[in-house]
Amino acid sequence: MNQSSAGSVHLSILESGVAVITLGDPSERVITLTPSRIKSLAETLLSLKASPPRGLIITGPSLEMFTVGADISIIQSVKDPTEGQALAKQGQEVFQLIEDLPCVTVAAISGPCVGGGCELALACRYRIMSDDKSSLIGLPETKLGILPGFGGTQRLPRLIGLPKALDIILAGKTLRPRQAQNYGLVNEVIQATRLLERAESIASKNSTTKEIAPNFVDRLLTFTKLGRAFLKNKVKKSIRKETKGFYPAPPAALECCLYGLEHGLALGYTHEAKELGRLIISPESKALVNVFFLSENAKSLGKSGKKFIESLNAVVIGAGTMGAGIAGSLARAGFPVVLKDVNEIALTKGKEHIQKGLQKIKHLSETEKSFILNRVETTSRDLTNGSSIGLALEAVYEDLTLKTKLLGDIATHIPSDAIIATNTSSLSVSKIAATIEHPERVVGMHFFNPVEKMPLIEIVMGEATSDKTLSIIAALTSKLGKYPIIVKDVPGFLVNRILSPYLNEAAFLLQEGYSIEDIDTAATKFGMPMGPIRLLDEVGLDVAAHVSEIMVAGYGERMKAPTYAKTLASHGKLGRKSGSGFYDFSHEKISPSPVARELLKLPKATKEVTNINPLQERLIMSLLNEAVKCLDEGVAGQPGKDSASQINLGTVMGMGFPPFRGGLLYFADSLGAKNILEGLQKMEREHGARFAPAQGIIERAGNNQSFCG
Ligand code: NAD
Repeated sequence: MNQSSAGSVHLSILESGVAVITLGDPSERVITLTPSRIKSLAETLLSLKASPPRGLIITGPSLEMFTVGADISIIQSVKDPTEGQALAKQGQEVFQLIEDLPCVTVAAISGPCVGGGCELALACRYRIMSDDKSSLIGLPETKLGILPGFGGTQRLPRLIGLPKALDIILAGKTLRPRQAQNYGLVNEVIQATRLLERAESIASKNSTTKEIAPNFVDRLLTFTKLGRAFLKNKVKKSIRKETKGFYPAPPAALECCLYGLEHGLALGYTHEAKELGRLIISPESKALVNVFFLSENAKSLGKSGKKFIESLNAVVIGAGTMGAGIAGSLARAGFPVVLKDVNEIALTKGKEHIQKGLQKIKHLSETEKSFILNRVETTSRDLTNGSSIGLALEAVYEDLTLKTKLLGDIATHIPSDAIIATNTSSLSVSKIAATIEHPERVVGMHFFNPVEKMPLIEIVMGEATSDKTLSIIAALTSKLGKYPIIVKDVPGFLVNRILSPYLNEAAFLLQEGYSIEDIDTAATKFGMPMGPIRLLDEVGLDVAAHVSEIMVAGYGERMKAPTYAKTLASHGKLGRKSGSGFYDFSHEKISPSPVARELLKLPKATKEVTNINPLQERLIMSLLNEAVKCLDEGVAGQPGKDSASQINLGTVMGMGFPPFRGGLLYFADSLGAKNILEGLQKMEREHGARFAPAQGIIERAGNNQSFCG
């Protein structure tokens, strides 16, 4: 059976006369609203329309699953707007059958209830939600470049008011049970084991639940012309600020919500379906769906390692910027951690760092936060009994002798199959592993800074690292809520290697007399979260200078560039962390530092830039050229398609390459190898050998081949 056409719903009638629709079988791990399930739901609802029950409960097949909504491979396959529009219309019509039933309808939600699943629940009169830790409700469609098309843009604003509805829809939010209750999205939250009993009581009218109504101000902003006009203005501005005009879905979703409130439900639904049809075929949506599948596939990298991390005890050595972040991350995922440092002050600061991070997480209760914090034990003593340790991870200073000695020593105190990981950003994992007993368990686990925010971990394969070790660390990465890519032990690994020529190009542009603003704007106008020069300041100019030296040592001439970061660092200007670098961070408005230009003896920024495209091309082509080299050298993943996927994911998650462009090589395919080759050849003539096209670009241009396969 075709996966996307699989699935049906089941109807049962309870003794009380209440009907229960179960959205699938417990054997189905994930319930999607496939065409066949929608059809089965429609038939079941029509039978109930003909013979109405006392009440209706709609629920998932298990406490861990309601439904995750439409099958995303269907979204991916739509090529024609009318096809998308028809899909939306069909969903809307089926959900309308729920709303039109003459009995009380209750969505009994446990597990994920997102996208079309949430829209289904919105068509019910009441939503009650279990407190199971898998429970989640929301409308993440805009994250896939589309909008809720099964009535969500119409029902949600009417239910909870326009301001809260927009807050959920525009950002593609999913909410935990208590948050959902605060938003008014669910009527009540209940113990998982009592969910169905409670739903039956409400559906049979034996008891009532809290009715939801927007508050006075939200009603004004929703149901009056003036209120909507005020809100629209405000929200439009914030969309522009958030999306910079790169993402068409949020403004379209805003218009849909407003249109329905202005013109009534019937026209609102029609408009919603039409807009879904338009968005579903947009390049932005296709690219975002690509990123979605890349991230889903990354989770499967650790499939076989899952069982080894079930009860893992970890020791993290080094409680500095990275070590504290890593220990906090492990504790949040449920692992007990010993955080070890030679410096007591670092330990105190490290623990404070973890505590501050926890304070920012809104959905955790104070008790949960204290449980997490208590999982981290700090110590400055040597590890003497490490028999229960499954993972030792070091994040001490970037010094080969220190790391080798420290890990060699730890190895003698922990079981011989316990994993030894290094967070080195520039040293060779194979060299670190060389003197350690059982080097097959030594691996690089390269977190990015700040650990709490950055979603990527590069898992670095040393010469001896075993597949088992890789899969355990991949499983751990997923458990930490991050995405793994598996990379070779080459200088810069994947992300820093691809970034290096791009950062270098920014230095060449500075040298030629371009202004810091123009260079950075060229990158942000392409969709990068910040420009290359600002990125250097954020990373720290001492760190950047060090990485740059490693890259020159590893790859030679083609990685050489003006050493501006080093010069500024030698004057104590380290970027954001010291208050100034290329930029001055001491005022509220961050602006280029005049001192930097003087120190670097740069020509006055005299180049008048009327068109930033040439700057943008130089920056982006530098990234592309290096990415293709990495692809063909097998720096990430398995050669071929897998490698391209891991590079796409690594560039989006590790360097902020714009998700709406689908990843660096996905973007390269949208340009075509021939165009890239011509562009690079022109730049090589104008700017020198650093732009010499990668062999893989020349070959693919000749054979008319794609990069992603
Ligand atoms: P840091 O200077 O903030 O912290 C290092 C900590 O190690 C200090 O607290 C120090 O007291 C401790 N330490 C030193 N020797 C020790 C020993 N023998 N035993 C126990 N503790 C010891 O450094 P950081 O920025 O957290 O970097 C740590 C590692 O992570 C480095 O290898 C670095 O290359 C890598 N890394 C850093 C970043 C970053 O942006 N900071 C990003 C990725 C990887």
